[in-house]
Amino acid sequence: MTRGTDERTDLKGMTLPELEEFLARWGKERYRARQLFRWIYQKHAGDFAAMTDLSKELRGILAASCRISGFPAERVETSADGTEKYLFRLEDGEAVESVLIPDEGRRTLCISSQVGCPLLCGFCATGAAGFRRDMTSAEIVQQACFAAKRLAERGERLSNVVFMGLGEPLLNVTEVSRTIGILLSQFAFGISGKRVTISTAGIVPEMLPLALRYPVSFAVSINAARGDLRSLLMPINRKYPLRELVAEMKRIPLQSGRKVTAEYVLLAGVNDSPEDARALARSFRGARIKVNLIPFNPHEASPYRAPEAEAVDRFREVLISGGVQTITRERRGADIRAACGQLRGSVQKYGNR
Ligand code: SAH
Repeated sequence: MTRGTDERTDLKGMTLPELEEFLARWGKERYRARQLFRWIYQKHAGDFAAMTDLSKELRGILAASCRISGFPAERVETSADGTEKYLFRLEDGEAVESVLIPDEGRRTLCISSQVGCPLLCGFCATGAAGFRRDMTSAEIVQQACFAAKRLAERGERLSNVVFMGLGEPLLNVTEVSRTIGILLSQFAFGISGKRVTISTAGIVPEMLPLALRYPVSFAVSINAARGDLRSLLMPINRKYPLRELVAEMKRIPLQSGRKVTAEYVLLAGVNDSPEDARALARSFRGARIKVNLIPFNPHEASPYRAPEAEAVDRFREVLISGGVQTITRERRGADIRAACGQLRGSVQKYGNR
């Protein structure tokens, strides 16, 4: 659902059950909602005139009282490695960014869920720019609509969505849940839950309810093996401490063969020692958790430094010999500042017109 001064009801961002209920008020059948879903999310329709399988009467009603919001990217930047960064201008003038990462068969879109972020993690560029507001489901899903349409024009399909752009998805859980419902619906994007990843700084009470509602993948930003260091890097640790967070990660229901991801941003001389790796391996021992190591991407708003390649390798080796599955995240789109934690510049520059 959308914000703004337009009086008409925005159909974009409604879940299928919400749309069914909305149409039922006019006595319309449930399958009409599925037809609308296909038009909006699979055929990228922007108005009702094209929806020829709806009756003239229904098209008339919809055109008079409803709309389908949508905005193109105001700017598209393409990296030498094929990564694309999109700047979106929202209806109230705020701006957010998304990044499309092509990787072999996959087309992964990294999307934003808030304009800015209130969490103020010390290494992250988003927090440094401050928090403006939550995004609506219409705005969140529009990032995927834009990317999917663009991909379709080249005969490609959006295969994965990660909530790793601006914001903390679990602080905007109502709108994020609506968006997940649309991404997973076979009448819309039809993306399987395992290909939709919610990345969270660890809003403990929101994790399990969402995991029980949708079979999505979880990535939890851990970033420290000790609570005191984590509090320093991520102030949210004072509210939801590391121990409780790891305990909650172990409670997330998983399909066979699946794991919860622990994201760990390596900061040189801060959290990248073999001792840190040993402590991390200990706290994950026996749990269905895999580690995604992310070498820090330096930016002006942060005093931290990127780790040496040897420190990254050593850290990974210690985790692996401690029995923890570990991968190192490759840096993508560095030349267009599309890499992790760098999606701030544009928001700050374009956020207030
Ligand atoms: N708020 C959510 C999602 C956005 S951040 C969360 O905290 O998970 C997505 C990931 O990027 C997190 O794992 C975060 O720790 C990481 N990150 C943030 N700034 C970074 C930077 N400068 N370099 C590398 N990773 C960064």
